[in-house]
Amino acid sequence: KAIGIDAGGTLTKVAYLDEHNELVLTTFPSNDLLAVKNWIINHPDIEDIGVTGGRTEQLLDVIKTMKSIHYIVEFEATLKGVRFLLHKEGYLFERSMITNIGTGTSIHYMEDNTHVRVGGTGVGGGTLIGLSALTTGITDYNEIRNLASMGNRESIDLLVKDIYQGMDTPIDGHLTASNFGKVGITESVKHPTEDIIATVQGLVGEVITTLSIQYAEEKNAQHIVYIGSTLSNNDHLARVIANYTRTKKHTPIFINDHGFSGAVGALLNI
Ligand code: ATP
Ligand code: MG
Repeated sequence: KAIGIDAGGTLTKVAYLDEHNELVLTTFPSNDLLAVKNWIINHPDIEDIGVTGGRTEQLLDVIKTMKSIHYIVEFEATLKGVRFLLHKEGYLFERSMITNIGTGTSIHYMEDNTHVRVGGTGVGGGTLIGLSALTTGITDYNEIRNLASMGNRESIDLLVKDIYQGMDTPIDGHLTASNFGKVGITESVKHPTEDIIATVQGLVGEVITTLSIQYAEEKNAQHIVYIGSTLSNNDHLARVIANYTRTKKHTPIFINDHGFSGAVGALLNI
C-alpha cells in the first residue's frame, strides 16, 4: 500500500486509498511526529510513502529507514492534489487562483496544466490562533473556531458606512474600513471574548481575500479556490471569505478534503 504525507507547519496530513479506492484521510499535530511513526508501524502493509511539506526533513528523521520514500516539493504536491480534488468534483477552470490557508498563506495561479506561486502573506491559520490567544487567552483551536461562530464584529470593526455617516459612500459601505478600527475611536468597553475572536477571524479572512483578489485581477482569473486546514469545519471563516470574494465580484470555490491537497498530491506522486 502507498500513503501520502504532508508535514506542514502545524498539522501533518496523511492520505491513502482504501480497498474501494476511496480516500482515507487522517491528521496529526506536527509537533508529535512520533505519533506518525507509530501509526505507520501499526499499518505494516504500507510499502511506499510520498512526502511533502516544510517539515519533511524532521519527518524523515523519524521515518526514513522504514519504507520506500518519494519526495515532492510542497507547491507541486499541493497543486497536483488540488487538480485531483477539483476534477473529482467536476470543476474545470481554464484559469483560477488557488489560495492555501495553512499556518501561513500561499497564493498560486493555475492555468491548464501549469501553475505558479504568485505570492502569499504571513497572515494565516497561525495568525488566527496566535492573535486569538494573545487577545483572549484562548489557545485551543476548536474553542477558537466555536467562539468565532458565535461572535459579532459590529462593535469592533469600523465599516465604510460608519465613517460616511449620512452620506453616499464612495465604495460599498459594508466593506471594512478598518479592522478593529472602532475600538480606538469609541469609548472603551469590555468586548465579549467571542466578539474579539470573530473579529480576529474577520481580519485574517479579509486580508487573505483582498490579496487573493488582487492577484486574480492581475491574472484575469474569475475563480478563487480556497484550501487549507484553517477552513476545516470553520463555516464562519468560509463565510467571511465567500462574502468578501463575492462583494469584490469574484467567485469563491470550496472543495471537500481541501486540507489534504498536499497529502493527496504526495500520494499521487508515488
Ligand atoms: P503550512 O502549510 O503553512 O506549513 P500547515 O500545512 O500545517 O502549514 P494547515 O494544516 O493547512 O497548515 O492548516 C493549519 C491551520 O489549521 C492552523 O493554523 C489552524 O488555524 C487550523 N487548524 C485546523 N484544525 C486544527 C487542529 N486540530 N489543531 C490546530 N490547528 C488546526
Ligand atoms: Mg500546508
